[in-house]
Amino acid sequence: MTAGRLRTLDELGDVGGTRMFLRVDLNVPLSDGSIADDSRIVAAIPTIDELRERGAALVVATHLGRPKGIPKDDLRTRVVADALTGLLGGRAAVQAIGMPDEHETIDAVGRLAPGDIAMLENLRFDPGEEANDPRFAGRLAELADAYVDDAFGAAHRAHASIAALPELMLASGRPAVAGRLLQKEVEVLGRLLHGPERPYVAVLGGAKVSDKLGVIDALLHRVDHILIGGAMAFTLLAAEGSSVGRSLVEHDRVKDVRGIRRTAEAEGVRMELPTDVVAAAEPALDVPRITVPARAIPDDLMGLDVGPSTVEAFGRIIADARTVLWNGPMGVFEVEPFSAGTRGIALAIARANAYSVVGGGDSIAAVRQAGLEGSFDHLSTGGGASLEFLEGRPLPGITILED
Ligand code: ADP
Ligand code: MG
Repeated sequence: MTAGRLRTLDELGDVGGTRMFLRVDLNVPLSDGSIADDSRIVAAIPTIDELRERGAALVVATHLGRPKGIPKDDLRTRVVADALTGLLGGRAAVQAIGMPDEHETIDAVGRLAPGDIAMLENLRFDPGEEANDPRFAGRLAELADAYVDDAFGAAHRAHASIAALPELMLASGRPAVAGRLLQKEVEVLGRLLHGPERPYVAVLGGAKVSDKLGVIDALLHRVDHILIGGAMAFTLLAAEGSSVGRSLVEHDRVKDVRGIRRTAEAEGVRMELPTDVVAAAEPALDVPRITVPARAIPDDLMGLDVGPSTVEAFGRIIADARTVLWNGPMGVFEVEPFSAGTRGIALAIARANAYSVVGGGDSIAAVRQAGLEGSFDHLSTGGGASLEFLEGRPLPGITILED
């Protein structure tokens, strides 16, 4: 892949008096109609502030949840618009407006003054968004003089506001550039792809090996060490014939993980699996638990966290690293008795004299839970987009912004 140069806000020149279409990823988790975690909104603010200070009016747009092309009252963007107003601390009030084809929307956008912010209704209320429909993109294009994409978390989706819209803008001679958050993600993850300092250690965990086969395969060509914990370790352990009790195993992936082991050997990558695990009958608060060898888990128990010897062994490798990428918790960290392994690894990475990047919603939640977010060089907001980027795949939302 020959990555082009990413166009950024620096290329926009004087934007005073113009209207910007700003695509952001404010797809926040909602619980009972309120926002459970506002970090995506917080992450969008630097670009919003910069464009406002430079005198642009903003038409901000996001998707929210999975309404599948039909309006759903509990997925309206007003709650996000109000939260953004709050986080802007009086600098601006965000006006929630409708879909791009409504007269009221077009009128409201026409009335925007420099520094004003209007937030469109949930883009996915229109089936044209996920279908990458050029007609829907055309309606969005009518709202603005230029396009800024700061929605890194959606960059792997060829959706109308991510792909067709910037294409239309460029075709009509209007700029389409990356916002500061997307720019930072491309810089940081690009550094992991091209020329990371060595030793480069990848720490992978989480629920399913099937979610991450692509990224594991890609990492095997780049890293020096790969440390595997979480439930995905049990598919690897089961594939070598070890007794993993009732631990989560993806039996249909046994063949794939054997392939991973072979690639690791061929590439000279040292792959480490847990040597001990914390096991119990189920991931509950008050169940009896024991630490057992990872290759001899009793038949009636499941492995729910990596054990202390594993944390120590992984920790020694991490301590010598110059670059660490972490994705996926080491255990069921949401349930306190099974959170020590994840916390221990988070601490080891935080202490290492390495450039450290963590990706994945649950992994970032674990880092925050441990109060260590300030000790990592970068918390990648991307989830699926981060993983696809690290696989070296071109992302539709990024290539269109490159020269
Ligand atoms: P991320 O969001 O960081 O990419 P994943 O979504 O892949 O991470 O995985 C997170 C989930 O994996 C968590 O909900 C955690 O409880 C689960 N998990 C980790 N280890 C185990 C295990 N041993 N058994 C069952 N679930 C596990
Ligand atoms: Mg997750």
